[in-house]
Amino acid sequence: MPRPPKRAHVDEEDQAQADQPEEQCASKDIGAFTNQAFKNVVAATRAANAFPQGTARSLYLSYPGYARVMDEMSQRVVGLIGNVFQAKEIKGDIKKRQLEEQFEMVQECNDMLFERITTNLDIKSGLRRNPQQVLEAQVDVMSNSTHAEPPVASPQTQETSKAGSWNRTTGTPQRSMVSARLFTAKNIVRPQTQFKEPVDNSSQSPFVPRLKEKPNSLKPLALLPEYDDAGNVQSYLHPYEFELLKFQAPPQQMQKQKPVLPALMADTELMVVDTVEKLQQALEELRHAPQIAIDVEHHSYRTFMGITCLVQMSTRSKDYIFDTLTLRDDMHILNLVLTDPKKLKILHGADLDIEWLQRDLSLYIVNMFDTHRAAKALNLARLSLAFLLKHYLDLDVDKSLQLADWRMRPLPQQLVDYARQDTHFLIYVYERMTNDLLQQQAEPGLLGSVYQMSTEVCKKRYSKPHIGPESHMDLVRKTKRSFDNRQLHALRGIFEWRDATARSEDESYGYVLPNHMMLQIAESLPREMQGILACCNPIPPLVRQQLHTLHQIVLKARDQPLVKPILEARSSTQASLPPSTKDFSSKLYCPHDFSHQEEVRDDLPTLLNRSSTSGKLELPREEDVPKEDLAIVAPAMALFDKPGKPTQEEELRWAHLRKESQTLRLPYKRYLAILPLMEQLKADQIARERSELLKRRLCPAAPAPEQNIKLEAHTIKQEVDDMYSVPLKEHLKRKHQTSNKTDTDHQPTTGKRPRKDENSQPRVEPEPTVKMKPATTVQPVPDHSDDEVVEVPIERQSAEQTKPSPAQSKRQQKNKQFQRGFKAKNRGNHPQSSSQQIPQIPKPKAEGNFDYKNVDFRQFKGGAQRARGTEIKHQMRGKSRPNNRNNKQFNKLFTFSNVRKEGKK
Ligand code: AMP
Ligand code: MN
Ligand code: ZN
Repeated sequence: MPRPPKRAHVDEEDQAQADQPEEQCASKDIGAFTNQAFKNVVAATRAANAFPQGTARSLYLSYPGYARVMDEMSQRVVGLIGNVFQAKEIKGDIKKRQLEEQFEMVQECNDMLFERITTNLDIKSGLRRNPQQVLEAQVDVMSNSTHAEPPVASPQTQETSKAGSWNRTTGTPQRSMVSARLFTAKNIVRPQTQFKEPVDNSSQSPFVPRLKEKPNSLKPLALLPEYDDAGNVQSYLHPYEFELLKFQAPPQQMQKQKPVLPALMADTELMVVDTVEKLQQALEELRHAPQIAIDVEHHSYRTFMGITCLVQMSTRSKDYIFDTLTLRDDMHILNLVLTDPKKLKILHGADLDIEWLQRDLSLYIVNMFDTHRAAKALNLARLSLAFLLKHYLDLDVDKSLQLADWRMRPLPQQLVDYARQDTHFLIYVYERMTNDLLQQQAEPGLLGSVYQMSTEVCKKRYSKPHIGPESHMDLVRKTKRSFDNRQLHALRGIFEWRDATARSEDESYGYVLPNHMMLQIAESLPREMQGILACCNPIPPLVRQQLHTLHQIVLKARDQPLVKPILEARSSTQASLPPSTKDFSSKLYCPHDFSHQEEVRDDLPTLLNRSSTSGKLELPREEDVPKEDLAIVAPAMALFDKPGKPTQEEELRWAHLRKESQTLRLPYKRYLAILPLMEQLKADQIARERSELLKRRLCPAAPAPEQNIKLEAHTIKQEVDDMYSVPLKEHLKRKHQTSNKTDTDHQPTTGKRPRKDENSQPRVEPEPTVKMKPATTVQPVPDHSDDEVVEVPIERQSAEQTKPSPAQSKRQQKNKQFQRGFKAKNRGNHPQSSSQQIPQIPKPKAEGNFDYKNVDFRQFKGGAQRARGTEIKHQMRGKSRPNNRNNKQFNKLFTFSNVRKEGKK
């Protein structure tokens, strides 16, 4: 492949750098190395400039020998650049790219290398001069109240906080604007680079508990795997499953407490635990404490699974802050106190804390009191820690640092103070709450139930985030936009790309590509790479870096034939559902109507009567029970029954019901969902009536039933209208199918050219498929045999208008044209394929006789095909020069195979 000589020095430069042996770089000083490199670059540039240029170049290239050598050389050079890219871990294969893209890649690579150098220099100098430039800003963020009002354990919020918790554009109903302080620093070193054991983000392998010792065990440590249907390990049992099962809160915790107000934080000793020695000492002290308050601070933006950055603990007399970035592999020794069933651990809203502790620090908790659960049990007005501190201590705490970047080291004093307050008062709150719970005389078991619920939280197991083939649909459902199949195709592709990228780069989804940008790209399906960037503000670094891959995903989606969105959506949801005995497509089925379930029976006789003497409820005497109800002696109260083991069929059905009742289908969606069914009914009806009509025609004595014809004509008109709501190509395809069907189902018709459909004028014939070749046995209805030219069974008219006036038919034509134009305009993403290319339909000269000579059918062909053609050209055009068609064809082949390959990994 000949390369323009002007840019050739770029390759040489890279080659020169690549050719420098490692030792040379290391042995000589940087000045000597730079000098040598510069000399090489100059020499290479000179050599490149010596090549014939302009017309001379064209002349030289006309010699096959020269062209061949040049081609070989340029391939070698590209190969060398490819090696450099690989060595520098830059994604993408330059050999498979088009010329222009190769230049872009080289440029991007240079930029990236410079960026890396600058960052490294920054870190170097930053470490020397200014360890941490703390950045602070006031921001208004959408708060998902699960954190402010800690987790009610909705799977969604957990999912988001596991990966990319600032990514809240499509959030949950409970959000509210909160003022938060952005508290971060420049040049924070990625803590994961220091981890002794690298994190495993892969979706294939489950999370494996890393616990090596099991203090306070009732059963010895064992990693017990759970398998899925295919026999793969799906997860591991909780190491303290048995101990938690056996746990009973000690008697002293079930008694009234004597609340002791904590000392001020300023008067309390603080120990920042950041070495193993201090950790040992802290453990020794904690072993003597009967209660420990615990909290965890976590970072989830620049990591895939999240990182536990800090653990705070408080006893009555001392606060501890554990630097869990440095003590990540040592913290597990605290299991000695944390799993001790005689020592109480107090946490607030511990659902996520429990998972973070076990994932990163192999810490488990036995004997926990969750103040959030307690607040719920007490029916308090609000459930946040801030509220509890206000309620029990009249303290106003500032929670605005919740979103601070907890990876900062050394930890700024503000963050230390902030972290401390999360545990400092918690023991007192626990004591007050215990007393409040015991005071609720109406519900004597309340305290016990709080312990029970807290123990359930302790049983939680961390599992890695995973996406399924339909995960992207959750996003679609949450947005108010509707996506066609191309957009969905793109969304799914980008979604998978984002997941793979986030895992491999160890970044959150929110960092790789926030939801709203992803939806924007999928919705607008930009033809050019620039369009993708335009959907993002600010542009996420990984999007810039892997723009080419993203672009290919979008182009591939654009290449999909457009189908009616609703059909796609419907079939895809159906495919993922278990088999069911219910007819969910029935118009009468309503997912929120539980009256069909066995539990709800309003036709059962009441068995309990109030005794007239004692006033108590009692079973009626036998003779009072009506004979026919004798069979129901044991009341069928499924609600209180211990459920028997459900059959597999029942389980499937229940699972389905659960799923169905959880998905909210808006009325319009429901309406859309039954459309295909209605179409089917319509088709059946038409077929039935058609055969009846045929019979009647064969036996002329029977009068033509006018009503039927009306009905049919009406449905047919709707069908015609429907046809205009789909793109031309789909329209033609369907028509072709219809014609095939009528061919086989009924009599042979004349050879059909679907393209004529657009022009077939309103038919006089109310019965569409009956017109046929004269040779067939069935005779057409005599009245309207004049226009048998029309071969296409689609265009029809209502029965009342069997003979439309010219004005009427003109109006109809106009209407349809308008409709088409309108629909085309509304399909904003592919203007090329729609409005411009729908040919103007010549108006019929006179009713009945249509002059087909006036129609340029080539337009239709062009209309359908050029739409695609232009897309492909545009996709490939980029900044390329014209007349490079072969190149483009090749490029298309290459790039697409490339995408497939890249998509796999
Ligand atoms: P807390 O228990 O309130 O100290 O919160 C513990 C951790 O949860 C924090 O370190 C954050 O990582 C995370 N977190 C809390 N609130 C939010 C929020 N609104 N959005 C995202 N993450 C949060
Ligand atoms: Mn917390
Ligand atoms: Zn906290």
